[in-house]
Amino acid sequence: MTVPDDLVAIDVHTHPQTEEFLAAMGPRRAQMAQHFGQQRPVVSFAEQADQYRSRRMMAVIVNSDSETTSGIRGAPNDLLGKAQADHPDVFLAFAGIDPWKGAAAVAEIRRCHGEYGIAGVGELNPSRQRFLPNDRRFFPLWETCAELGLVVMFHGGFPGAGAGTPGGGGHRLENARPIPYVDDVAAEFPELRIISAHPAWPWHLDNIAMVWHKSNVYLDLSGWGPKYLPPEVVRYADSVISDRVLFGTDWPVLTADRWLAEFDQLGWKETSRRKILRDNAVRLFGLAGSGSGED
Ligand SMILES: [Zn+2]
Repeated sequence: MTVPDDLVAIDVHTHPQTEEFLAAMGPRRAQMAQHFGQQRPVVSFAEQADQYRSRRMMAVIVNSDSETTSGIRGAPNDLLGKAQADHPDVFLAFAGIDPWKGAAAVAEIRRCHGEYGIAGVGELNPSRQRFLPNDRRFFPLWETCAELGLVVMFHGGFPGAGAGTPGGGGHRLENARPIPYVDDVAAEFPELRIISAHPAWPWHLDNIAMVWHKSNVYLDLSGWGPKYLPPEVVRYADSVISDRVLFGTDWPVLTADRWLAEFDQLGWKETSRRKILRDNAVRLFGLAGSGSGED
């Protein structure tokens, strides 16, 4: 598809909040509400689509399946595929997969690609799903995504999941380090396009280095109110890595309105601002129209 000229922004990181997705959070729903200090009301896909459409924005909708490690099955990927089909002007669907499911996870990626034309896979969370992306047992997943032209999103840095509980829910922070775990995948699969989600604090400098070094890796600024972004992230995003930084909210944790209001307080170069909000995602997802001047 081709995006309209008046498209304002693409939010590359939103978590659907329909009944099914909230149920699939299990006990994490209450823990995350505590951590972020906000409850999670049900929002239908139609309502979410309206929120973005009325602002002339698009949104990536992500999913997760951690059945092997949590015992709770993720919401069906069909829900996202159908939401994308119902609202093709707004949504780009990512399929949630459980990397431990091996061949079944590969088959699920192929099925979602074939049936729905999904845009990517993720958000994968190496801490919560307890895996290391550079473990060769998971390479068939990344190989498949590269073959099908799907973007893969890895959560980077501090996870809300388990935060503030004894033992952090058993989730290890180490797994969410961009270097070496995501950097290795990017090196092994140069044709694979990766979103390293969030600034990845406390490893935001590693994240910047990885994105600067490897042109197949993008970072999204989601999950942080822009006014709290570490200064180095803003400095590099506004200069050497401005071609590979993406607007993302982590909705519903942050709304696009709040995010943009804070983002605009940071004094971006106009060229960087447009790239981050819109043009980098247009290029990453191949949404440029012919003759629009974008590559
Ligand atoms: Zn995340």
